[in-house]
Amino acid sequence: MKLLVTGGAGFIGSNFVLYMLKQHPDYEIVNVDALTYAGNLENLKSIENHPKHTFVRADITDAQAIDQLMQQGIDVVVNFAAESHVDRSILEPEVFVKTNVLGTQVLLDAAKKYNVTKFVQVSTDEVYGSLGETGLFTEETPLQPNSPYSASKAGGDLLVRAYHETFGLPVNITRCSNNYGPYQFPEKLIPLMISRALSDQQLPVYGDGLNIRDWLYVEDHCSAIDLVIHQGKLGEVYNIGGNNERTNVHIVKTVLEELGKPESLISYVQDRPGHDRRYGIDPTKTMIELGWKPKHSFETGIKETIRWYLDNKEWWTRIQSGEYQQYYAKQYSSR
Ligand code: NAD
Repeated sequence: MKLLVTGGAGFIGSNFVLYMLKQHPDYEIVNVDALTYAGNLENLKSIENHPKHTFVRADITDAQAIDQLMQQGIDVVVNFAAESHVDRSILEPEVFVKTNVLGTQVLLDAAKKYNVTKFVQVSTDEVYGSLGETGLFTEETPLQPNSPYSASKAGGDLLVRAYHETFGLPVNITRCSNNYGPYQFPEKLIPLMISRALSDQQLPVYGDGLNIRDWLYVEDHCSAIDLVIHQGKLGEVYNIGGNNERTNVHIVKTVLEELGKPESLISYVQDRPGHDRRYGIDPTKTMIELGWKPKHSFETGIKETIRWYLDNKEWWTRIQSGEYQQYYAKQYSSR
């Protein structure tokens, strides 16, 4: 099987590429990524010369570049490429619409033209909006995105649905909760808190810190997508979640406790506009239909994650210092 993985130099995409090469040594992966600020080839260092992995720098909104890649005979497209940071979408919505909506449409057109056997759109529970104190998002929950990020992801998802209904394109959409684990860009909650706590900086927490997210260890997300590729019923949406609802402040306190740092480092800051209060995923359909089960509890996953950031300090300090930009330049001169 030959996969086109988009966004495979980002957090989840790179974990997915590493996971698939291990799980399916006979599969070929063409990894396409524009290397925005969030893409980092250092995530793929361990497979630099892997015979089954090819990295191509291209933008998913570039129809010609995508067409060229698809000519190689791609069986399955897995679309991770996205602008993914909610705070950035509030400052600069345009690029979110370009990549997350237009980019998805470009990929769908190419997938249709070259008759792929499956197109998997990796999406988010944020498209469902915010929950009250009770209830969970199911695949039937209406889409009610509240941020420019989630609205652009919902736009991409609706195009995927429409290409299935209109053209019979074999698609699946996956919607998952907050991921955590190795290689997450250090602007996101858990790595941000780890890196700041280690240098005894204040840890900024939005509002009262009681917003709830449902945490999923990234490898468990990858195993679910693997199952969706192979067993997902065409046209279906699959929710992926770890049943790990935690308040943001609980996450921050856990990080502090694990690192032996005082809670006095927490600093409550003005809330993000349109900040969704609670997300909670009902993954029953994915578990029953596909036999998926997460392997990591939050308690073990967070410990492993903190250990990874401690062991890979060079990885994230290089990002923070901008050194990884030079790494790109070097990488490219040799390709
Ligand atoms: P990320 O920001 O770490 O990675 C995104 C990758 O896409 C980067 O490597 C970036 O260079 C690339 N990219 C961006 N624009 C591109 C373009 N126009 N063309 C080609 N490549 C481009 O994001 P992530 O956290 O790994 O998320 C991956 C996917 O999973 C996204 O679609 C996101 O919406 C979804 N998701 C993420 C989470 C989470 O908790 N991180 C939760 C739910 C869903």
